[in-house]
Amino acid sequence: MKKMFALLLAVVLVLALSACAAKQPAGKLTMATEATFPPYEYYEGDKIVGIDVEIAQIIAEKLGMELEVTDIAFDSILPGVQTGKYDIGMAGMTVTDERMEQVNFSESYATGVQVVIVKDGSAITSVDDLFADGANNTIGTQTGTTGFLYATWDIEDEGLGTVKAFAKTTDAVEALKNGQVDCVILDNEPAKALVAANEGLSILDSEYAVEDYAIAISKDNTELMEKVNGALVELIKDGSVQKVLDKYIGK
Ligand code: GLN
Repeated sequence: MKKMFALLLAVVLVLALSACAAKQPAGKLTMATEATFPPYEYYEGDKIVGIDVEIAQIIAEKLGMELEVTDIAFDSILPGVQTGKYDIGMAGMTVTDERMEQVNFSESYATGVQVVIVKDGSAITSVDDLFADGANNTIGTQTGTTGFLYATWDIEDEGLGTVKAFAKTTDAVEALKNGQVDCVILDNEPAKALVAANEGLSILDSEYAVEDYAIAISKDNTELMEKVNGALVELIKDGSVQKVLDKYIGK
């Protein structure tokens, strides 16, 4: 009888333990981002919030994983994903041919537009002014971004000005306010947020480039890519991704 009881106890214990295990997340999903990019990622107090964080969160939930977000320099995100230090990179990250040589990208979940911010009353009144004969502007950008790359190729390499790169979008905007740069090239949504938060700045009407944002994952981690992309595609189809975008954009 005693033996019977011990056995029963053992069975109950095993069941209780496995029930416990089932409730535990199936692992961590680590995400690298750069959190001066509102509304995609920014600080609310000491918490990183925004579109990318929420989309990553609903993907993680679907996969039964626990999301962990780390804020690093923008140009460290892809190397961090490549070396496996982080599972995913999500930072309003534009899909480009060069980056596709380094990492794999998920389906696109949002569109970005490169725009130009100037101080009110600036001599630069359209994007074309940046490419005009004899132009000689100092362009502020964030290091390693597509804005930085385009400005380098189209403006600096053509002898039409100088590109200054900053670690954060907010630093580039400060430099514009201080007169260290004549304009800043960056993505439209952070541009809107930064112009709203800083007096005396405006966004030029003309667009510089239209781009797709996607999630970066190591080329070595095709299993995770399938899982993450599968979840993302479902969340796009059922409207969950749009809901997150609507929550932050165009209110
Ligand atoms: N979309 C731009 C890029 O991928 C900028 C992203 C960012 O600054 N977070 O380069």
